[in-house]
Amino acid sequence: MKSDRSGYSALCSSALLCQRCGYDLRGLDAAGRCPECNAPISAALHGEQVEFADPQWLQRLAKGSRCVKTGGWSLALVCGTWLVPLKWLDVPSPLRIALGAVAVASVVFFLCLGIWYLGEPDPRTKDREPTLSHRRLFRSMFAAVPLTLVMSLVLLRTAGPAAFCVTQLLGAPIGLVGMVMIWAYGTYMQWLATRVGVSLAVTRARDYRNAYTFSWLLFAPAVFASWLTGGHPICLCGAFIAGIGMLAFGVLLLSLPTYIADGLQRASAAAIWNWSAPDDKAAEAERMRNVTAENSSGGDCH
Ligand SMILES: [Zn+2]
Repeated sequence: MKSDRSGYSALCSSALLCQRCGYDLRGLDAAGRCPECNAPISAALHGEQVEFADPQWLQRLAKGSRCVKTGGWSLALVCGTWLVPLKWLDVPSPLRIALGAVAVASVVFFLCLGIWYLGEPDPRTKDREPTLSHRRLFRSMFAAVPLTLVMSLVLLRTAGPAAFCVTQLLGAPIGLVGMVMIWAYGTYMQWLATRVGVSLAVTRARDYRNAYTFSWLLFAPAVFASWLTGGHPICLCGAFIAGIGMLAFGVLLLSLPTYIADGLQRASAAAIWNWSAPDDKAAEAERMRNVTAENSSGGDCH
């Protein structure tokens, strides 16, 4: 089996793969069902067309995009209600900590759940996917997000020479891994938006990903130069500007699933229809005709 990406897509397009289990259906009757999982073979004829993909897979993706959306709103809530107003209102410290902990926990919970669902593999091509695919790298953020949070908390609690050494040693490799994951996320979102057919999300995913990467490529050497020069103002200023860029484009990247949430929902409804048996379809079409006829006879007063 070829492992490079172009070989992978060529392999998938030359085969007639079942939308639910990836079984090669070449030579079978198009009106029949997959011998492995009973999915309609007619759906497989449409290949990459998202309206014919496995409805369950699409529903999980739609659920994932809604979870990330909720996580994003929780994050905005953390920043909005915890960091700013409560500080001004001088809310007692333990209450602030408790509220903050709940808010942060809900952000992590919804983001991780969203990442997990959004990273669900397409069952059609799951077995043929390269080991280090963008989707796999993105889905590993499911573990990386809480791990980074815990590590940051531990380092903050144990501020001292040991924590300083750990930060110095692990900071760069962790930052690099994080960068690769975020790149993979942007690329995966671009692919998903292309499949769902939301062109605005396709261009935004590409632009935000590139802008984030550019900011990171400025940030990393600026931090290193500040460390080498003992905090030279130009280096510090560069690191600050690049850091703001990373933060801004990071938030924009987080907003990407909201662009495709509706598209995924529509695609999953279309896929349910496309997968239904011909008899069910005829009955549903008949029902819709009756509803339309009733509406036009009852509502038309001219
Ligand atoms: Zn199948």
